[in-house]
Amino acid sequence: MNRSLKLFAVKGIDIRLHITFPLILGWAALQFAQIYGGVNGAIFGIVAISILFVLVTLHELGHSFAAMSYGIPTKQIILSPIGGVAQLLRMPDKPGQELVIAIAGPAVNILMAFLMLAVALALGIDLNTLFRGAAGLEGATLTSLFSYVFVSNIFLAVFNLIPAFPMDGGRILRALLALRLDYARATKVAANVGRVFAILFGIYGLINGNFFLIMIAIFIFGAGTQEASVSSVRQILRGHTVQQAFSSSTYRLEANYTLQQAANMAAYSGQRSFPIVSGDRLVGFLPQAVLHEARRTYTAHTPVSAVMRTNIRPVTPNSDLYAVQERLQAERLDALPVVSEIGRFLGMITGQQIAELFRLVRSQPPIITGSNSA
Ligand code: ZN
Repeated sequence: MNRSLKLFAVKGIDIRLHITFPLILGWAALQFAQIYGGVNGAIFGIVAISILFVLVTLHELGHSFAAMSYGIPTKQIILSPIGGVAQLLRMPDKPGQELVIAIAGPAVNILMAFLMLAVALALGIDLNTLFRGAAGLEGATLTSLFSYVFVSNIFLAVFNLIPAFPMDGGRILRALLALRLDYARATKVAANVGRVFAILFGIYGLINGNFFLIMIAIFIFGAGTQEASVSSVRQILRGHTVQQAFSSSTYRLEANYTLQQAANMAAYSGQRSFPIVSGDRLVGFLPQAVLHEARRTYTAHTPVSAVMRTNIRPVTPNSDLYAVQERLQAERLDALPVVSEIGRFLGMITGQQIAELFRLVRSQPPIITGSNSA
């Protein structure tokens, strides 16, 4: 199920290797065996790529620590053959924060470049030798290794600063624009700039027959389109609350109901998840997935209280709808219970209800515009 392997943790952030990671090591071993010949070349390739991924990890930790300083935790950092991803638990609301978080990654690489340059000068390696080494002209030596890592690290910084989603440069550009424009408009402009870059890469790749560049161009073009649509959902849902979408006519269970009764109720009501209530108090929540799993592992007469989840934070009628939508996705739920400020059970909000409100609002012209959160 879990397609990555935990290496270690830094300040509570798991650093994980995707199972496809050995592919890049194998590829590097083959490539460098061809360049430098034999086993020496293969070892050189594996060591060089491993060091490169240490730099990728530092880059991702740069993003994570910047996010942490705004109270945004990072779930994990996953390293795969195409690079690293720091999974932040949510995105910052303020463009200024997004700007700092996006810059923090490439800033780490720029810092490392200066550090390595200082080390190179201290060791008496001049710039000429540095670039000769990276071009493979120095043989499988330590100087070559150093050069390769040095040049790759600079490439990492430059590539990430290309102003196109999903690169850091795209986010930096959007954040800068969002200091002046509203968020959706800023995203649209940034996505269009990214698409122009994608087209230029694509044309250049076609002219030079560079298949890799064409792939990157297609990838960047798609990412820009997706970012624009995510942001429009956010723009539309922001400012709407649970009050406007949730239903109070929710089927509910009591703690002593059996799994069989819960399954029957799901079958005839069409409702997937159930709140467990006692009087007007919420005592637990039975998400669809938990009910399914329990039906396989427990007998039909088991009370729902034995399997219900008691650690799900309910939302209130004033909760922001976009935040609720993000929680549903992050926690893989189809619904969340709604309680009043004083803890009285009121009903449930489902992903479907949010989608309906989204369609309704989108089909109407906007009433309020220019909601810049800066
Ligand atoms: Zn980055």
